[in-house]
Amino acid sequence: MSKLMIIGCGGVASVAIHKCCQNSDVFEEIMIASRTLSKCDALKEKLQPVTKTKITTARVDADHVEELTELIRSYQPDAVLNLALPYQDLTIMDACLAAGVHYIDTANYEAEDTNDPQWRGIYEERCKRLGFSAYFDYSWQWAYKERYEKAGLTALLGTGFDPGVTSVFASYAQKHYFDEIHTIDILDCNGGDHGYPFATNFNPEINLREVSAPGSYWENGKWVEIPPMSIKREYNFEGVGQKDMYLLHHEEIEALAKNIPGVKRIRFFMTFGQSYLTHMKCLENVGMLSTTPIEFNGQSIVPIQFLKSLLPDPASLGPRTVGKTNIGCIFTGIKDGKEKSLYIYNVCDHQECYREVESQAISYTTGVPAMIGAMLVVSGLWKKPGVFTTDEFDPDPYMEALNRWGLPWVVEENPVLVE
Ligand code: NDP
Repeated sequence: MSKLMIIGCGGVASVAIHKCCQNSDVFEEIMIASRTLSKCDALKEKLQPVTKTKITTARVDADHVEELTELIRSYQPDAVLNLALPYQDLTIMDACLAAGVHYIDTANYEAEDTNDPQWRGIYEERCKRLGFSAYFDYSWQWAYKERYEKAGLTALLGTGFDPGVTSVFASYAQKHYFDEIHTIDILDCNGGDHGYPFATNFNPEINLREVSAPGSYWENGKWVEIPPMSIKREYNFEGVGQKDMYLLHHEEIEALAKNIPGVKRIRFFMTFGQSYLTHMKCLENVGMLSTTPIEFNGQSIVPIQFLKSLLPDPASLGPRTVGKTNIGCIFTGIKDGKEKSLYIYNVCDHQECYREVESQAISYTTGVPAMIGAMLVVSGLWKKPGVFTTDEFDPDPYMEALNRWGLPWVVEENPVLVE
């Protein structure tokens, strides 16, 4: 029995909240706390009549540590599940430390203002030192390790699908199938069609920043960076079919490189259709992806935030998206002296997700692992003082929970490998 505070009430949070409410034996009480109270109240109104979990709501601006700390102290949850935006990771981690509760999120910290000179100085030094230029990395949150250890608190970082489940697939492969993993290819395929010429499946600002950045992968102990979208492969995905996919930088590579001993290469690929890429390139070329404020008619606006207001709300894509996602990892390595390869993946159907929780599969495949991560922390199975990613705990209870809570996985021996 536990009490969980969930921050944010967007696409991913809505799924996680549905799932907590299906899991009332673990989540006796939840608080939905977000910037727009009406969204929290609407979800409460829908779910309270059909769940034993007691739901309360609150308005909070999670950018403000004191305001959030006060709310956490007054509600006294066992843990806080951060499903706001990566911009709030550090303020929420600070508030959890101040209030003495465990912390869980699904994506690593990103600065909202990438022109802030103080942030920029640290970022540029890191680019040189580590060799990749993505705006997000683990250093900011790993820096909390000692403080969480001293406070006897757990911070579980990145328990979505990727990162999250993909890293659990890696520790599961390591535990049960390999003596040594040599290569990991993470393949994220969305075969869904929402019928719009252009829309993003989750927060447009976060999504477009990720996709328009240079790609990078880990090889022989260092990062190799490439121009955006410059490595393309094709793969035939179970449940979806043949798709083009592109190499991107992705945060779990950083954690897996640290936590999977002997790994020689880790790459991340995501599928994109030509129409998506053409739209994105055009928006980028005209400056619409910029995060730098401009003056327009006497008002300061951030182009990518203005673009967000024009694009379909990701939460509205649910009813119209058909098709499936297939996300997983291909491993190669050695077992009992012999070479071996293995593919662990999940196939998720957009319409089935919608029927169950009124969301498309991208929010579903993130919201379910968010609930599972929170469940393992509050139940004590994944609780230890410090700051951890999902590859640093016993993968078995997480893998069991995926099967039980709607994301069943498949293990395939000798899969087709990515060249
Ligand atoms: P949304 O934009 O749909 O939702 C974000 C929510 O956070 C909104 O309810 C928003 O409030 C709220 N919020 C934003 N700022 C604040 C603030 N300062 N204080 C309080 N609440 C705030 O995003 P998604 O649901 O698509 O994404 C949620 C998280 O999940 C992101 O961090 C994203 O990066 C991550 N993610 C992780 C994936 C993975 O596989 N690991 C995959 C997909 C997403 P309001 O309603 O007022 O806008």
